[in-house]
This record gives sequence, C-alpha cells and structure tokens, in this order.
Amino acid sequence: MKDAELVTFGGSGLDRAAHLRGDAAALSALKKSDAACWLVLWRGKVAVSKEPQGQLLRLPAAHPLLQNHPGPEIFLGLQAGKPVFARDISSWEPEFEATVEPQSFVDLSTQTHPDLAENETFSDLRALLSLIRRDDGELAVTARSVFSWHRSHRFCARCGQESQPGMAGWQRDCPQCDAHHFPRTDPVVIMLITRGNDLLIGRSPHWPEGMYSLLAGFVEPGETLEAAVRREVFEESGIRVGAVSYLASQPWPFPSSLMFGCIGEAKPGDITLDETELEEAFWISREEMAGVFSGTNPRISPPRSGSIAQFLMSKWLADCLD
Ligand SMILES: [Zn+2]
Repeated sequence: MKDAELVTFGGSGLDRAAHLRGDAAALSALKKSDAACWLVLWRGKVAVSKEPQGQLLRLPAAHPLLQNHPGPEIFLGLQAGKPVFARDISSWEPEFEATVEPQSFVDLSTQTHPDLAENETFSDLRALLSLIRRDDGELAVTARSVFSWHRSHRFCARCGQESQPGMAGWQRDCPQCDAHHFPRTDPVVIMLITRGNDLLIGRSPHWPEGMYSLLAGFVEPGETLEAAVRREVFEESGIRVGAVSYLASQPWPFPSSLMFGCIGEAKPGDITLDETELEEAFWISREEMAGVFSGTNPRISPPRSGSIAQFLMSKWLADCLD
C-alpha cells in the first residue's frame, strides 16, 4: 500500500545510528553537543506542550527536569542530524498526582511537574493520537516501548539475576551468565475482512459505547501473518477467510505491539460469535460505513482517529488500498 507509512506512528525516517550505541566516547560527545536534546517520560506518559497541543518537549541537558532526575536513558538516534536521547523519570513521586477517570478507555489526565512550565505536562500518547507530529510520534513510541521493556524485564530470563541496561538502553546484560536480552515487539494482526461490498466489523465489551472496529489478535509462535488472520477471524466470528494480503503496519507501544494491517476475503458462511471476545459482529456495506465516518449513523461510531483500524477503514471506504 503506497500510503502505508502515513498511518499515525508510521515514522519519519529517524536515523537510529545503531553503530553509536556501543561507542561510549561518541555518545559522551553527542550528549555534550549543543544540538543534543532529551525527551522525558514519566510512567509511560511523555512531556509535551499544551500549546501547540501535544508537541513533544525536546529539552537541553541543562533543563532543571533533567538536572533533578538522573534516571535511565536511551539514545534514540539522530533526527535531522541532531542527537536525541530519552530519560525515564518514573521514580519521581508527585506531590499532587493527576486523577485518572476510573474505567476510562483512554487516560486523558495530564500530570504537571514543578520543573515544567505552566503549559507543559506529561500526557498519555493515546490521548495525543490525532495530534502528534510524525517526528515526535516516532521518538515517543520508541522511548515508551523501550522503557516499558526495561521495567518489565529487570531480571535475566536465563538465570534470574538482575540484569543491567547496555548499548545506550537497547539491551540488557546479565552480570552472572553473560546473556544479552533485547527489547521485544509483539506482532498483532488487524484485518479488513471483506465480502463483496461488505466489511466485517465487531465490538469488544470494553470499548466506548457504540464504537465498532476491525477484528484483531496476537500472532502466535510458529504462525504466519496470513494464518493468524484466518485463525483469529474464525475464532472470533466463525467466518473462514481465503486470500490474505498485507497492507500497512503501526507500532503500538502499549506496551510493545506492532500492528500488521491486512486484508482478507471471506468465504461463504454465517457469523458465529465468540462471546468471550466480542459483544457483536456483523457485515456493514460501504455505503453504511460512509455514514458512520460522516457521523450520521445513530448507532455506530468508528474507531479512534490515529488508530490503524480507522486508517485502514477510511482507505477501504475511499477505495485507496493499493
Ligand atoms: Zn543470567
């Protein structure tokens, strides 16, 4: 699909400069350079400005937030030739912690910090989906995913010893058995399943009322993307799928998924719902879906703007999947 990388978090050509990760002298020089900047994360939220809304803060080394919170770091790479690092200050305990609405689908709370300006906050990336710039998004999803991996993989999976970050944050090394561990990415398939002019959509009971989306699920070990699409659709809806093609992908750092957007052709047969996964699934015509996207359908609302589901469905509607 020629527009595949226009999806939110679709990247902006960050030079990850992986050859520098193990070069302590080069990294030290990059950190001292005037061009160096840091993004800062706190418990998965990123420091952004309110105006312009959702713009990632790129802080210089001398900024009080960095001076006051040493925290773990990642070298993200070179963006437009400038070195970019990320700092995790999750150990900071706020005096006044923002309240998260219970049962909320997306955490819209914003956390202030005494070292940030009045119009700067820590915000959840999911709340910024439709706002975040491409270059900001690429940095933020990378940092969020890698920091989350460090927090959940503190101990060596081979011998149980506490491991240590290495390679500028891109691996963990075990001091006892010398094993090296690397950040993981979990593949998920999400699929446009079509039958002629109709699209298969469904809803999970945990979603906001009225929201419907594409079926999706984790790829299992030993499975191709195509097989995962066929298995997930059959398990959730009882529909058999024939030909499957890949369309586009989206990093989804909650905590570490990579969404593989696919399209598959349904074979004849009726829907049989797996009620543990889905509350409802049905076929919707292109004309009806156009009404959903224009906001004129009284019952159905589309997935959130910025999600790959919304991206794929809008491309299907516009007949722009090539
Ligand atoms: Zn070990």
